Amino acid sequence: MTKKKEPDLMDKLVSLCKRRGFIFQSSEIYGGINSCWDYGPLGVELKRNIRDYWWKCMTQYRDDIEGLDASILMHPKVWETSGHVQNFTDPMVDCKKCNQRFRADDIDVNVCPACGGELTEARMFNLMFKTHMGPVEDEASVVYLRPETAQGIYVNFLNVMGPARQKVPFGIAQIGKAFRNEISPGNFIFRSREFEQMEMQFFIHPQEDDKWITYWKEERMKWYSEIGIRKENLRFHQHDQKELAFYAKTAFDIEYNFPFGWKEIEGIHNRTNYDLSRHSQSSGKDLSYFNDQTKERFIPYIIETSAGVDRSLLVCLVDAYLEEEVKGEKRVVLRLDPKIAPIKASILPLVNRDNMPEIAKKIEKMLMPHFKVFYDDGGAVGRRYRRQDEAGTPFGITVDSQTLEDETVTLRDRDSMEQTRHKINDLVPLISKKIWDR
Ligand code: ATP
Repeated sequence: MTKKKEPDLMDKLVSLCKRRGFIFQSSEIYGGINSCWDYGPLGVELKRNIRDYWWKCMTQYRDDIEGLDASILMHPKVWETSGHVQNFTDPMVDCKKCNQRFRADDIDVNVCPACGGELTEARMFNLMFKTHMGPVEDEASVVYLRPETAQGIYVNFLNVMGPARQKVPFGIAQIGKAFRNEISPGNFIFRSREFEQMEMQFFIHPQEDDKWITYWKEERMKWYSEIGIRKENLRFHQHDQKELAFYAKTAFDIEYNFPFGWKEIEGIHNRTNYDLSRHSQSSGKDLSYFNDQTKERFIPYIIETSAGVDRSLLVCLVDAYLEEEVKGEKRVVLRLDPKIAPIKASILPLVNRDNMPEIAKKIEKMLMPHFKVFYDDGGAVGRRYRRQDEAGTPFGITVDSQTLEDETVTLRDRDSMEQTRHKINDLVPLISKKIWDR
């Protein structure tokens, strides 16, 4: 069994995603719109499962992080204060010959990578999407689509801390859409102009920053293992002085070994007290913290963990994709971790007679409240298994003639393809255990 890592893996994935209903190009019937993607039935389940697991790990399995859902449109002062209006820019160059446009820091050469033509001087381009609030489209009505969810957290620091009765150290987590007018989007959903982030900002005492950044690096790396990503495909990359954002003290990226190279999937940054200091100064509201035990007042430092939902989903697909040969036939299988698999179990009557469909339907009803299942009675059972392999469904339940005699079914494991027999009544606890106890 060999993992395929060839460059055309991306093409295969894009085609599988379309064929199986994971991801489509946005507005496809009109020729599509560049860098926007729609998630179909399987994609939306996978995305939800990734989000839900992150949310659970951040807000349910611990008592020191609170959730938030801030609005996408914010007061324009937020983006002036944060530095985005001035600094959220990328250098852009155009080819004078073929007119293609590139991000200057993405290309190592000083000629056009597409045609070898001469490039223009680099110009700085602000990545924020602008729109207008209200009916009059003038300078005073300009608002921005947020390019990150983090600012919604900083400006709500006091709103959350008080009612939640939290004390520093504590964190605020948020999942939501972000928009960036990227100069060169691409690599499928890796870089798009509308995407989703899962961000957590952890507020700490300034002298505890080393401890907390080490802690969050470990926690976040562990999380990727828990959703099934192989350790050898993950690594940290520490920002050097050149890469470091002007406000950050230390920064690490978690990188994944994509078919197109090692690339960032999450940033873990020590943002110091930059954000709260800036918003304090600019709004006139005191965002410092008073420790009533030590009687110390300080502006908390922030350790940020910032991940992309879409990028995590792409990582899951790339890491799970496997082609193998089974009895002389090619099998394509997505070995997604059961926790995040869109469908947990398929239910297949072996044949469409002898009461088998009726029993299978009863099993479907029994399992539905517990997890997403899929009933399939179309075609040879081997082909039905293959379809579910491609969808990443970890378990297949087959109703056969023995079921009629002793109320047992077979349970097929997607990865080993082994089948074991179980009582119908044991299916819920058995499958639940296999999904969650890993
Ligand atoms: P890059 O250097 O790739 O542009 P970045 O350093 O600007 O990324 P951050 O601002 O740290 O990215 O964003 C945090 C996370 O949000 C990234 O690790 C990534 O998972 C996700 N993300 C950022 N930009 C995009 C995008 N255009 N499309 C999809 N996901 C994105």
